[in-house]
Amino acid sequence: MRIIVIGGGVIGLWSAVELARAGAEVTVLDAGPQAGFASPAAAGWVVPALSAPLSGPGVLMHSARQALHREAPFSVAPRLTSALLRWLVGFVRSGSARQYAAGLRAVLDLGAGCVDDFARLQETADLDMRQTGLLMAALTQAGLDEVAQLAEATTAAGYKGGYEVLDGQAARSREPALGTAITGAVHAVDEVQVRPEQVLRALREQLSEAGGRLVIGTASRLGPADSGWRVETNAGTFVADRLLVAAGAWSTELLAVLGVRLPLMAATGYSITTPGTGRAPQLAVKLVEPSIAVTPFADGVRIAARLDLGRPGGPIPERRLAAVLNRTRPYFADWRPGLSSATFAGMRPATPDSLPLIGPIPGHRGLYVATGHGMLGLTLAPGTARYVVPLVLDEVGPAELKPFAPERYLLTGAWRRP
Ligand SMILES: Cc1cc2nc3c(=O)[nH]c(=O)nc-3n(C[C@H](O)[C@H](O)[C@H](O)COP(=O)(O)OP(=O)(O)OC[C@H]3O[C@@H](n4cnc5c(N)ncnc54)[C@H](O)[C@@H]3O)c2cc1C
Repeated sequence: MRIIVIGGGVIGLWSAVELARAGAEVTVLDAGPQAGFASPAAAGWVVPALSAPLSGPGVLMHSARQALHREAPFSVAPRLTSALLRWLVGFVRSGSARQYAAGLRAVLDLGAGCVDDFARLQETADLDMRQTGLLMAALTQAGLDEVAQLAEATTAAGYKGGYEVLDGQAARSREPALGTAITGAVHAVDEVQVRPEQVLRALREQLSEAGGRLVIGTASRLGPADSGWRVETNAGTFVADRLLVAAGAWSTELLAVLGVRLPLMAATGYSITTPGTGRAPQLAVKLVEPSIAVTPFADGVRIAARLDLGRPGGPIPERRLAAVLNRTRPYFADWRPGLSSATFAGMRPATPDSLPLIGPIPGHRGLYVATGHGMLGLTLAPGTARYVVPLVLDEVGPAELKPFAPERYLLTGAWRRP
């Protein structure tokens, strides 16, 4: 069976590898490196411990309070388009206790085994993978309570990893780069970090080993062909029996050609890799209050921050970068990150309920989507790929995929196809 996957990010590539291994003739069409590509910008955390949806009980009030703060870790585009408005309505609607709990369980299921999947990838690839856990460090007692409660709720929902709650001194002995202002930390000890660019390289190699091919070409139009699907690109026209759209934040405009509207917005984040000066952290640290990710790699420390909803992933204003770097200061004894040329904006493909969209597109036989992984695309890529195989090859949607069916938005009425 011939399958085209549009998108060579971590979701498209991991899915393509598994489809090729299952015997399909796979072609990945990718536009090539472009501004806003999310996967290489990622902090590199493989963190099922952070499976909780962004929308939840009390989150709206909390976000509204934060939004009034000049240094809020997120922003919403000032121009309120109808798509953005619908997204926000969907976000509010998905914040009930019931939906939050169901979403958390579903994402935990999708991410189950991901640490082992990355360990297997490491066995055959040159991958800087560190199994040092994730330290969530808080300046305030309220911040520490928030992450401790999150850890409890995630464990109650089925998370199998371990947690330790540490006071300031214990947190500093675990990560000596932390400063005296730290009140405490929660250490999710089973989480791992990888270098996202190396993951992408490894997946491209595995795709080729499994008999698949990657073609650099930007898809402009897609439509049904006699025997399946046709995709027009600037590198020619491709046909296949089935088509999987995994083009991250760009998936919306690709499917719009068919009159399909995905409930997806770009949630742009910044990624800065810099050695900095002073004693650099050796563990992956989440700075709780400003929600900043800090990950040590061999050639520097990556800082990933912000969630700018509905903004394109173009150049980042320097004052915003400086504000992010400033907010790291109180957490560290003397480590000071600097501005760096390794700075990117990546567009996370974000859904209103924080759950990915994985499944068939209703009314278009042979057309599937795998996107909307938001803050967790790296973590959820192996699980997504595992379920995409029976979905696309056998047209069997495993029960685990039900919460991620794109049609959930068609049913709620928050998002309708035109
Ligand atoms: C700053 C930041 C930090 C993050 N940190 C983490 C983390 O630590 N852990 C984690 O789990 N997740 C993290 N994420 C989220 C994660 O990076 C994303 O969820 C994930 O990368 C999405 O992958 P994707 O393949 O869906 O999209 P992308 O990586 O954006 O890939 C989409 C691909 O589609 C291609 N494409 C687009 N349009 C076309 C077209 N018309 N034709 C052909 N190809 C096309 C693009 O070129 C691109 O290659 C982070 C994200 C950001 C921005």
